[in-house]
Amino acid sequence: MDFDFDLFVIGGGSGGVRAGRLTAAAGYRVGLAEEYRMGGTCVIRGCVPKKLMVYASAFKDAFEDAAGFGWSVGETRFDWAKLIAAKDAEIARLEGIYHANLEKAGTRIFAARARLVDAHTVSLSTGEVFSAKHILIATGGTPFVPAIEGAEHVITSNEIFHLESQPKRILIVGGGYIACEFAGIMNGLGTNVTQFYRGAQILRGFDDEVRGHVAGEMMTRGVNLHVGTDVTSITRVDGGLLVKCTNGALTEVDQILYATGRNPATADLGLDRVGLETGRRGEIPVDQWSQTAIPSIYAVGDVTDRVALTPVAIREGAAFFETVFNANPTMADHEDIPTAVFTQPEIGTVGLSEEAARELEPIEVYRSDFRPMLNILAGRSERMLMKMIISQASRRVLGVHIIGHSAAEMIQMVGIAIKMGATKEDFDRTMALHPSAAEELVTMKEPVRAG
Ligand code: FAD
Ligand code: NDP
Repeated sequence: MDFDFDLFVIGGGSGGVRAGRLTAAAGYRVGLAEEYRMGGTCVIRGCVPKKLMVYASAFKDAFEDAAGFGWSVGETRFDWAKLIAAKDAEIARLEGIYHANLEKAGTRIFAARARLVDAHTVSLSTGEVFSAKHILIATGGTPFVPAIEGAEHVITSNEIFHLESQPKRILIVGGGYIACEFAGIMNGLGTNVTQFYRGAQILRGFDDEVRGHVAGEMMTRGVNLHVGTDVTSITRVDGGLLVKCTNGALTEVDQILYATGRNPATADLGLDRVGLETGRRGEIPVDQWSQTAIPSIYAVGDVTDRVALTPVAIREGAAFFETVFNANPTMADHEDIPTAVFTQPEIGTVGLSEEAARELEPIEVYRSDFRPMLNILAGRSERMLMKMIISQASRRVLGVHIIGHSAAEMIQMVGIAIKMGATKEDFDRTMALHPSAAEELVTMKEPVRAG
């Protein structure tokens, strides 16, 4: 049978763009539908604008710290509208590059919403219908807001990037990546930040000591963090939003950011028409080749609810191309993924937490908790934390956790060593680089705990 396309990709985000571009560049006929803006969550309203805002908020520290090094910094003032405009210009530039690269590779782009019609057919919101030998679903995820009274008054990460004015007071609900990152961003930019998290400690799933250390430092920097606290109702009042929480207390704020997770974007995609069932959270189940239960349909990225990170979606998209179009069956590797939470201070982590490792085998824990050189003249009390989890049996490094300046940059490099199976002794025989904070990683002598 002759198809209109060899591949039709639904979604122009991290995973879809990579798969579409590689497949088109290899000479196949590729169509790609994107309903919003090319680049997807990461580029348009995720990693990239978020990181620009992290940079913007970090100047507060720089101005404060400068005095300890002899500088006199005059009056400083932050202009929200200027930052948003500069950020928007950069996002538009990147969107253009994504568009151009896809077109250069030969992809036919449709600015439209796509739905499945059958195992080889998609229909577009423009009314067009196309057949394809393979279909790749790469529709990502959407913010989830629980059904609380007054939910219509809240914003999500989609909206925070476009607020016309900077809120003076914000409530952030959630204790995951987005909630903790935006608590730091908004606090750094001068907004009064209150954060509610329903559980006992933020960042569930991360190393317990890391969670405690970061929560403490976030509070020292001025985030009013309340754990064991949730919202029961929200009402609009004169001058703001009134929030009632589980302990009965009332808080008035200007904006409420819900960062309570993201759901796979599978609504109204026509999955029922082709007989594809979704999992409990709406995700599309796939095998290790990203193939769904229907052989001609594959899915990559957040919509599969494996690991919701941009580099993972990109690798899954590339592995799909290798497997289906390049005669080189390739599985995306989900082991030991380095990740960072751009909190202030920043977290970089790879491998197992102390708690997860202890469940598996006897371990040794090495730990260094110190005040970095930068903070001493600056008069800043903030401490860095570095932790290594070692297998007693194999001596392999099972996990590394870093909190502090440049933790993300360091953990990317540590990730290579972990992937190569480095042992504690490999770290020990690596010469220290002085003076740096990273040298602590190769100079930890005695375990602080074992068992
Ligand atoms: P997406 O990038 O979400 O792309 C899906 C695309 O499909 C979207 O453009 C959407 O408009 C389109 N679409 C959906 N349905 C249809 C349809 N029916 N027809 C046509 N088009 C459709 N990850 C990191 O690694 N590092 C970070 O620092 C980081 N920060 C983040 C910050 C925030 C605020 C958020 C929300 C996420 C962040 N992430 C980060 C996660 C990262 O953005 C995602 O994991 C990544 O974008 C997933 O890529 P994807 O291709 O699966 O989906
Ligand atoms: P997360 O899953 O990280 O966090 C969701 C938070 O919301 C958790 O604290 C969760 O609590 C809480 N929560 C969930 N449901 C409710 C509810 N009904 N009421 C109150 N609280 C609730 O999701 P995010 O939205 O922060 O981010 C989505 C994903 O995007 C991340 O998991 C990550 O994969 C990716 N991302 C990556 C970033 C990076 O790499 N730096 C940055 C931003 C996002 P509990 O723990 O108790 O379940």
